[in-house]
Amino acid sequence: MKKVDLSFQSCKAEYPESKVVLFSVPLDATTSYRPGTRFAGNAIRVESIGIEWYSPYKDMDLKEHKTVDIGDLDLPMGKVEESLDITYEVTKKILKDNKLPMMIGGEHLVTYPVVKALVEKYPDLRIIHLDAHTDLRDEFLGRRLSHATVIKRCYDELGDNRIFQFGIRSGDKNEFEFAKNGHTFMQKFDLEGLDNIIDQIKDYPVYITIDLDVLDPAVFPGTGTPEPGGITFKELLDATIKFEKLNHVVGADLVELAPMLDSSNVSTVVAAKALREMILLLHMQKK
Ligand code: MN
Ligand code: MN
Repeated sequence: MKKVDLSFQSCKAEYPESKVVLFSVPLDATTSYRPGTRFAGNAIRVESIGIEWYSPYKDMDLKEHKTVDIGDLDLPMGKVEESLDITYEVTKKILKDNKLPMMIGGEHLVTYPVVKALVEKYPDLRIIHLDAHTDLRDEFLGRRLSHATVIKRCYDELGDNRIFQFGIRSGDKNEFEFAKNGHTFMQKFDLEGLDNIIDQIKDYPVYITIDLDVLDPAVFPGTGTPEPGGITFKELLDATIKFEKLNHVVGADLVELAPMLDSSNVSTVVAAKALREMILLLHMQKK
C-alpha cells in the first residue's frame, strides 16, 4: 500500500504503523441523476487544509494518531464490477493486516464491496446506515448493482435485523414496506432512537455508512440526489459522538459528495469535518 502526497490533513503515517487506513473510491458509474462523486476524495483532501486537526468534540488530535491515506483507488473507468472487485480486495488486505478501513465514496454502491469483505471477517456484523434514501431497491434501471440498491445488496449478505437505517425520507413504497416488514430497522426523517439502537448493538462489530445526503441540502447541496427535509450538521455531529458508545466499530464510510455541484465548496468542508470525527472514532476503538 503506497501513501500519497496529497493526503487528508495530517494523515501522513506509513502503512505498517497505521491503525486506520483512509482511501477513496472514485466511482460514480451508476449515479442516476447528477454525477460527480468520483471527485470527492481529492476535493476533501484539498479542503481539509481549512479545518483543524484537533477535535474539541472528542478532545483528540488527529496528529497524535497514526492514519495512512492511500488516496484514490486506481479503477478502470466505467467498469462497475471490476471497480467493486478492486475495492473488495483492498478492504480485505486492510482487514487482514488488522487495520480499520475509512472509506470515502464515490457513489454509495462502493459500500457494498467493503461490507462484503467485512462480513467475511465479522460474520455477526451490524450496519448503521444514515441516508436520505432507502437504497433498498432490488434493482434500479435494470441493474442489481447500483447506488439505489446498495443496502439491499448488503442485506443479502447480512439478513434480517442487522441493518439500522436513519434519516430516511425518500424511496419506493415497496422499500419502505420491506423495512416495515421487519427486514431492516428504519427510522424515517431523523436520527431519533439512535441511542437505543446503539445500546442494543454496542457489543457487536458495527460498520457505519454515512450517505451525506442525509443532511439537508441547505447544509449539503453538493450531492447527486439532494433530498429536502434532512438533518442538520449538528445532528450528524451528535451522532458521531453517540457512536463512541459502540464498543467495536470495524470501519466506516462517507459517500455521495459531488464537490462540483456546490460552487461554494462548503459541502466539501462539511464532509471533511465529518471525516475528521469519523477517523477519530476509529482511533478510539480498542481493536
Ligand atoms: Mn442518498
Ligand atoms: Mn445512499
